Amino acid sequence: MVELEGSDARERAGGGVRRAFALVVLGLLAGCGPTVPGGVPVAEEPRHRLVSDLDFAQVLDIQILVSDTTLFHTHARPIAYTCVSGSSMASQVAGADWGQPGTPCVPGVPFSVPGYAESPLTHRVANDGLDLFHLIAVQSLRDVPGPTALGAPGAGNTAVDNEWFRAQTIELAPGQTSPTHRHEVPTLMVLTAGSGAASTLEDGRQNMLMEQGAWMWHQPGSHTLAAVEGVALRVVEVEVK
Ligand SMILES: [Zn+2]
Repeated sequence: MVELEGSDARERAGGGVRRAFALVVLGLLAGCGPTVPGGVPVAEEPRHRLVSDLDFAQVLDIQILVSDTTLFHTHARPIAYTCVSGSSMASQVAGADWGQPGTPCVPGVPFSVPGYAESPLTHRVANDGLDLFHLIAVQSLRDVPGPTALGAPGAGNTAVDNEWFRAQTIELAPGQTSPTHRHEVPTLMVLTAGSGAASTLEDGRQNMLMEQGAWMWHQPGSHTLAAVEGVALRVVEVEVK
């Protein structure tokens, strides 16, 4: 069974940037600086930081600085993204010209590319906007989606519902608690606005998402979400089928 895990709020204050820099340095020392079309697996691209590596899924904390460009990397698994920090990006498929300049990343809005297993893509992306480009992504490692029926949508609005993922957005006013709802499959929770989101399980155990960009796995089961710090918040819940 999957252990509950999540981002470390204390580490996020700067450790991510230092770690990304260290990875770049290590990459250069290892002689893999300039990349050639063909690309590294997405989970090995330095700006796609692998922060959870489970048997059925991986979580990537993707942070691209203004004017920075990723290495060529290959997507070969179904993936769902949650945008945390808005910016815009351009992308370049290996062997082609740069395209799609100004493609926006809208904070709090999840989206999914379910077809990468059948149609792998090698590309690189550049932040051509004015802010940090920050996404939390989950890619499924399953060969086929799980057989579990998901049941009724939980407490939010369904923004993604495909063969591999269902993602919902939950908005809570200061002090508000969501209805109790159940997830039949492992669910990645991402705080995209506000601070202090408390997830309370049936047995009373509570876990907190402390700041924008924090994420946490929720085991199958029931819970509530509450805005406990006097500010409104927005959480995206991505169910991995
Ligand atoms: Zn939930």
